[in-house]
Amino acid sequence: MIDTAGEKLSPEDYLSDVRPVWCPGCGHYFVLRALTQALAWLRIPKEQIGLVTGIGCSSRISAYVDAYGFHGVHGRALALGAGLKAVRPDMNVIVAGGDGDGYSIGGNHFLHACRRNMDLTYIVMDNEVYGMTKGQPSPTTEPDWQSKLAPEGTGIRRFNPLGIALASGASFIARGSAGDQKGLSRLIVEAIEHKGFSLVEIKTPCVTFRPEEKAWYKSMRKIAIEPTDDMILAAQRIHGSDGFDTGIFYQADLPVFQPHFTEEKSIEDFEKEFEV
Ligand code: SF4
Ligand code: MG
Repeated sequence: MIDTAGEKLSPEDYLSDVRPVWCPGCGHYFVLRALTQALAWLRIPKEQIGLVTGIGCSSRISAYVDAYGFHGVHGRALALGAGLKAVRPDMNVIVAGGDGDGYSIGGNHFLHACRRNMDLTYIVMDNEVYGMTKGQPSPTTEPDWQSKLAPEGTGIRRFNPLGIALASGASFIARGSAGDQKGLSRLIVEAIEHKGFSLVEIKTPCVTFRPEEKAWYKSMRKIAIEPTDDMILAAQRIHGSDGFDTGIFYQADLPVFQPHFTEEKSIEDFEKEFEV
């Protein structure tokens, strides 16, 4: 990676040489495009971007963006991202992954990342299924969806990411659609610019294991919601939505957690203490 500070970049400039292996028609291609568009719009130097991902189809995105990337372990991307931000507050830390990774095994990290409100951007590519491991129900799968692994459906109510983020203390909560790439890149720009923990939940079809989700490309309603810092109004919007509205549901100026390393406690002390 070359030093790109001060250069004008296009979305293509943020693509690495690694060719995506996603299935043809997968929504994640549009998320990658929206993310690179947002980075180009903001003209963020590549060496100032840390893209940290978990495990799953969507988490491969860190290999496809030409920036510092870390493909972590399952469900731990937010913990890794928080660690990076703690020691490199100057970097734009973007954490990305899927619904299984972030809301199931990573659920605990999700709650506390919202609560800490560090200045991180969290992109969740939610296709309501575990795609990489061949179509198991995820926390956002509807209870009556029938699959080989759950022939009668799970019977378990769905996780509500936006509602849980609001209750846990996230200061920017948005939903986007892979089918509205322009709107999605706008949301990602807003999320990166926001100071605090930003959740961008993206409905992105898994065309292989949930072909019916292809309808999402057309059925999601375009950006229509203006931000509010009123928690009650935001809760009404979130819980009153059928899940097909996109936009910024909540945005507030809340205290941001950022550890400070001082002369008494430097990064070197930290490294010695933890033998890193
Ligand atoms: Fe995309 Fe689903 Fe294929 Fe994974 S399995 S690449 S989520 S379409
Ligand atoms: Mg998924």
